[in-house]
Order: sequence, then C-alpha cells, then structure tokens
Amino acid sequence: MKMNINIDIIKNECKKQGIDRIIKYDELLKNYSSLRIGGPADVFCSPGNIEDLKKVVSIFKEYNTPFWVIGNGTNLLILDNGIRGLVINLNKDFKKIEFSDKIVKVGAGVSLVYLSKMVLNRELSGLEFTCALPGTLGGAIINNASFKGNCMADVVQNVTFLTRENKIERTSKSNLNFNYRECDLKGKPVIILEATLLLKKGNKEEIESKIKQNIEIRKTRQPLDKFSAGSIFKNPPGYYAGELIEKVGAKGLSRGQAEVSTRHANFIVNNGGASARDILYLIEEIEKRVKKNFGIKLEREIEILGEP
Ligand SMILES: Cc1cc2nc3c(=O)[nH]c(=O)nc-3n(C[C@H](O)[C@H](O)[C@H](O)COP(=O)(O)OP(=O)(O)OC[C@H]3O[C@@H](n4cnc5c(N)ncnc54)[C@H](O)[C@@H]3O)c2cc1C
Repeated sequence: MKMNINIDIIKNECKKQGIDRIIKYDELLKNYSSLRIGGPADVFCSPGNIEDLKKVVSIFKEYNTPFWVIGNGTNLLILDNGIRGLVINLNKDFKKIEFSDKIVKVGAGVSLVYLSKMVLNRELSGLEFTCALPGTLGGAIINNASFKGNCMADVVQNVTFLTRENKIERTSKSNLNFNYRECDLKGKPVIILEATLLLKKGNKEEIESKIKQNIEIRKTRQPLDKFSAGSIFKNPPGYYAGELIEKVGAKGLSRGQAEVSTRHANFIVNNGGASARDILYLIEEIEKRVKKNFGIKLEREIEILGEP
C-alpha cells in the first residue's frame, strides 16, 4: 500500500505539541543500519521519554500513518527508497538499566554488548551470550536473539510495551511464546519500552572468561570487519543455512558491492556502496539455488523494511 503522508500537517502538529526537537525529516536510514544501506524515512523520531513517545504515537495515529521501530538496525535490510511514514528510535530514558539483586530492569534501547558488561560488573550471570549480539534489548526480544545455545527467553521475565492505542501494557514470559527468532510481539504495532530480566549470582572470573570465549568465536566465524546484518536465513530443521549456501556454490557470489561472505556463507556483506537491490538479488539467487538443489525453501531471518 502506498502511503501519502502530509508532512506539513505532521510538522505543525509536532510543533504544537512541543516535540519538533526530537523529529527529523528525510533522515537517511543507512546511518541506522549495520548493513549501511537504506533510503530516507519521511519522519524520524528519537523520543527520550515516555511522554514524548506517546505524543508522537498519538499524532501518527490521528493521521492514520504507520510507524516502525528500529533498534540498532542489525537485523534489517532497509530498501533504497526508504520508509514512508514514521520511524522511531528510542533514546535516553529507554537506555537505562536498574539493578535490584538478581532482577534487572532494562530499557528497550539498551545495547546488548553494553548490557553484558554492566551485569558482569555486578557479578551476575545469564547474559554472557549477549556480548555477541550487536542489537538492542527491544530487537533481541522481538527476535528471541540467541548465541551458542542461549537465548533471550532464558532470562526475560516480563516485557512492558506501548500499543498503537497509546496504552502501556505488561506481559509475562509465558504469554510471549518465544520461539526460534520470534515471539508473539513480532509483527504487531507495539513499541517495547523495557523488560525485566532474571539473572543468577555468578563468579566474575567465570563470567568474564565465558564472555571472552564468545567474543573469540564471533571473531573467527563472522565477517566482523565488513558491514552486514548477521545471518540472512534461519537454519532449516536439520540443516545449517550456511552449509546449504556453500553447497550450491553461492559463497563469494557478488552483485555490485554486495557479496555472500567468504567467511560465513549465511552472511551477505556490503563492501561499500552496495544497494538494497544488490542484496535482494543475492538473497533471491540463494533461495532459487537451494530450492532447486535441495527442495528446501529457506526462510529469511533478516527483515526487509521500506518502499519497494
Ligand atoms: C554481525 C552480526 C552478528 C549477529 N549475530 C547474531 C546472533 O548470533 N544471534 C542472533 O540472534 N542475532 C544475531 N544478529 C542479528 C541481530 O543482532 C539481532 O536480531 C538483534 O537482536 C536485533 O536487534 P536490533 O536492535 O538491531 O533490532 P533491529 O534490527 O533494529 O530490529 C529488528 C526487529 O525488532 C523490532 N524492534 C526493535 N526494537 C524494538 C522495540 N523497542 N519495540 C518493538 N520492536 C522493536 C524492529 O521493528 C524489527 O522488527 C547479528 C547481527 C549482526 C550484524
């Protein structure tokens, strides 16, 4: 569906509500994506507190304009034409961490690498795996992000979110149905605000050593020196997507500046200046080859956002 949003009306409303300081227009989204790809967002907003966030949501609801939330943009392919509507990127108050013994209340905008360091200082165990995840807490909950057998579902107790109706709701882990790269909030028009995590008391040296081990695994297996969005495809049951991609001869395949990583075939890297169209070409080529050779339909892990 093509959206025609009236920017002048939105601008006036934002001014009236005193939130124009947190709004940008035609903001290039490649700067918010780990692939460094993506055209402009009509309206880009970085609310630093719940009051401002509610004001923005109410304006966009009133004018029936869609919104998208992005965290660190590490699981996204944002298309070259950008996004028609509002993109929200949480700031300030949403980047807070509060400790109460083994319970940690974490803002949705907190980066997971930072979070793993903060809990290490408190000698809390359970988030050693998040040192390997470049996203934010919000994105990690939506995707039930995981590394080496540990996932967000292991630690999340409950999640607080804002609905499109501007209501704050809280739900417990049992209602979230965490699964492989998904939970019940995925694809719904909600904004995760914060979550409560339950950790265990641990030994600082052991936690630190586990973190170092995880960082080492990442460095050797993933193309961290290049722009990417992590794994492109989910592993089909009984297979590794990377192995299937190698077997169909797609490792190293390139289009423009986009390339199927020679280090990890389930990563597509941007060697500098690649377009979303280049990345999509490679994704579709891999899908065709794997389907033809193995009869397997690969499921995308990366999320595609924007105007085709
Ligand atoms: C080099 C590299 C390695 C990676 N390795 C792994 C790995 O080992 N395991 C793994 O699971 N993932 C991995 N990823 C993918 C990615 O880091 C995770 O999926 C991460 O959790 C996404 O978080 P994000 O903040 O970047 O979310 P984004 O990519 O910005 O968004 C992802 C989804 O979450 C939604 N979202 C984000 N924040 C909110 C919010 N506050 N409220 C509601 N919705 C929200 C977005 O709308 C979107 O649907 C890797 C990525 C890279 C670049």
